[in-house]
This record gives sequence, structure tokens and C-alpha cells, in this order.
Amino acid sequence: MPLVSTAELVSTAAAEHRGVAAFNVITLEHAEAIAAGAEQAGTPAILQISENAVRFHGGGLLAIAAAAAAVARASSAPLALHLDHVVSTGLLYAAADAGFGSAMFDASKLPYEENVRATADAVRWGHERGIWIEAELGRVGGKEGEAPLDAHAPGVRTDPAEAAAYAAATGVDALAVAVGSAHAMTERTAALDHALIARLRDAVPVPLVLHGSSGVPDDEIRAAVAAGMVKIHVGTALNSAFTGAVRSFLANGPGVVDPRKYLAPARDAMAATVAGFLGLLRPAG
Ligand SMILES: [Zn+2]
Repeated sequence: MPLVSTAELVSTAAAEHRGVAAFNVITLEHAEAIAAGAEQAGTPAILQISENAVRFHGGGLLAIAAAAAAVARASSAPLALHLDHVVSTGLLYAAADAGFGSAMFDASKLPYEENVRATADAVRWGHERGIWIEAELGRVGGKEGEAPLDAHAPGVRTDPAEAAAYAAATGVDALAVAVGSAHAMTERTAALDHALIARLRDAVPVPLVLHGSSGVPDDEIRAAVAAGMVKIHVGTALNSAFTGAVRSFLANGPGVVDPRKYLAPARDAMAATVAGFLGLLRPAG
């Protein structure tokens, strides 16, 4: 089916009090696995490409974006294409011509006032082109000119009043917040602050985004969605599934040279992981 927009998937999910998952695409097999997993689960999903993944592809956005978009269009599941963790405005501006309906502009490393200015500029640019813009707020530094704390650093929590002021000052369409998850976790041991999620949901007028969900156990994800999280980012869990399948295949077949032999089970393992996460995001009750 045609690409759907992140805006549509997130606003529908928010209205229905459920979550929508966004999975990181690094290789073509990731995109194929996300589409297969969404078809198995019978739910929509977001395919997201990060600035780091673009760097892996030699800095070129168009080839991997075109591949992911083609996989999404060929799928029977409703799939959107999102550009994630963009720091470079040059890359953000390239999104418009590469088929993206949304982008996460990450100015979270800048001092607060600069973050607001840069993010508001990105939002203005996006809205002139119909592109939905997400941003992220960790914790604002305590002293004048102090760098803010990374939203994914251990122990960092987003303050609801700051988040509300930030959303109002920037005009963002969604806000990633720090509530206890961290990027690149390979064990699912994160404990989220569900009371804080509820306070953020009540204070912030735009949908909330949970990054680093690979390290969050099933029940914690369900509870986070019930408390008000809408967009759930998953990257590392796919890579763990992919690499685990490749490693076990090659351990048992040291003579294998055809990459299709190990990429096929790796892709299947990622699809099963995708379907598992999507199964958690159905409406509660
Ligand atoms: Zn993230």
C-alpha cells in the first residue's frame, strides 16, 4: 500500500490510547523484516533511518531511504518512513526529497536556549513542507550556559514543566522524554517511571516518545503505553536478533560463503522480534 505518514499513525494511536512502534533500519534486511513483522502482527509500524545509519551508508541518504520506501510500499501493512536523531540540518533538509514524512531533530546536546531556537527553526522548515517534527528533551542544565544532560544518560528524567514550556516554545509535533530507558541496551532490564510518564502526558500537549525501548521489558512497555507513551522506538533488539542468528548459523556452518544462507534466518529473527513488540501495543483491555 502507499506510504502512510508518521503524523497519521501517531495521532490515531494517541486517540486510541495505544502505541505505535518505530524500528531502526540499517540494512535492506531490516526494512524487509519490519514489513514482515508488521504483516504478521496485523498492525502499522514506522521504519526509521537514523543519522548514524546514513553515516554507515557513506553519508548517502537516498539509496537506503529509497529501498526502505519501496519495501514499505510493497507491504500490505501500513508503514511510514521517519528520519531519526538528525543533528545535521543538511541531512534534515535532504529528508524532504527522500520520501520522509517525519523527522526527529535532535538538538538535545545544545544549551537550552540554542536548542529551542534550532528546534523551532526545524519545526518551521518542516511544517512549510508538511513534515512532522519530533524533538527530545532530557534535563536542562542547572546553571547558566551549562550543557543539558543527555536524555539517555542513566538517571536523567525530563521535568514536566520544562517539557511543556519546550513544546510550546518550539511547536514540535511530538516529544521524546527521559523516563528511565537508555539507548543500546542488550538486556531488557529497564524500569520506567510510570508516574512521571502520566505527569508528562498531562503537562505536554503533544504525543510522547519513548526512545531506547529495546531494554524495556514487555510489561513495562505495556504500562508505559497505558500511562501515555505513544511512539515506541526499538533498534537494538533487532540487531541482537540479527546478529544472534548470524552467529549461531556461522558457528554451525563454518564453510558457508553465500550471505543469503545466514541473512535469511537473521531477517526471520528480526521479523519475529518486530512482531513481538507490535503485539504489545494493542489497546489495553
Ligand atoms: Zn533514540
